[in-house]
Amino acid sequence: MARKPARKFRTTRRASITIDGVRHRLMAMPIQPQWQAAAAAKGFDIVARARDRYHLVLRCRACGGLNLVKIYVLMNSQPRCRACLERDWRARAEAAGVTFLRRCPRARHYAWVRLACGHEVRRQMELIDRVGRGKTAIRCEICHAARERAEAEARGWRLVGPDPEGSPHYRLYAHDGPEGCGHRQRIARINMQTGRFGCAQCGESWSAAPSHIYLLAIELPPAESDGPWERVIKLGMSRDPVSRTRHQLPRHDAVRIEILDSVPMPRGRDALRIEKALHGRLARQAPQLRIPRARFENHLKVGSEIYHSALERPLRRAFDRLRAGVQPPTP
Ligand SMILES: [Zn+2]
Ligand SMILES: [Zn+2]
Ligand SMILES: [Zn+2]
Repeated sequence: MARKPARKFRTTRRASITIDGVRHRLMAMPIQPQWQAAAAAKGFDIVARARDRYHLVLRCRACGGLNLVKIYVLMNSQPRCRACLERDWRARAEAAGVTFLRRCPRARHYAWVRLACGHEVRRQMELIDRVGRGKTAIRCEICHAARERAEAEARGWRLVGPDPEGSPHYRLYAHDGPEGCGHRQRIARINMQTGRFGCAQCGESWSAAPSHIYLLAIELPPAESDGPWERVIKLGMSRDPVSRTRHQLPRHDAVRIEILDSVPMPRGRDALRIEKALHGRLARQAPQLRIPRARFENHLKVGSEIYHSALERPLRRAFDRLRAGVQPPTP
């Protein structure tokens, strides 16, 4: 007779309910009829009291999901079903082309999502809705920073950080590439992208310095493990095509690069003008022969200017004409 109440006590103590992977102690306390009425009016059924004297377990009538809700919240506002909310967020994320991962535990209106590039970011759901409506885009800071670093590297410079003078259009760069002098200076990002700047220390200005138009053949590793290597063509300008080929262009040693042709130009600005004209002509006449960035971005530190090898012969002929002094038409 003395054992029975003791066993009963232990059973009560162990009784628990698991909600979202968290176990809560069930409370053997009465459920008031006015709570049931409020729950029913708000789309829930009360299953139990749990955790402490202040909480109820509500079952969502829409999805059957369990929610731990304070009695105070049930009586004074509309409780949200967590499962329904997450389903809604998942759909909104999907409409924006991203994958919902989880709600942010610290801010109610924020979620962690995975972007198309694979990076995970925390964003406000309102922003994700605007992305879904095509009003804006989510920028991945990690990818963006990598792109800015690669832009500088491709020019023989290194991105140091934001502009010390605070302009959003400028960055601080160091002339640290293979031919660099170590000098640091602020340069507009657009000029870093186009190469239109000079180093204030080693003095050479790109536009007045001699340059080259070059044509490279690049052997790209297979896109899939059992696929073939792919020969592609790069057209560009550089003060030193050999250094560009060896140090600034490949991301790793497996990429094989060969200089097919290189025509010296008396000034960088001439080289740039002719290079732009050639790219413009290719874009108009053979847009389908442009290689998508995704194919080479893991192998080469450039964003564009890579073409199908079918253009090798016509480009070689264009270089022969260049050498003979016949310039391509300006676009
Ligand atoms: Zn629900
Ligand atoms: Zn990213
Ligand atoms: Zn320098």
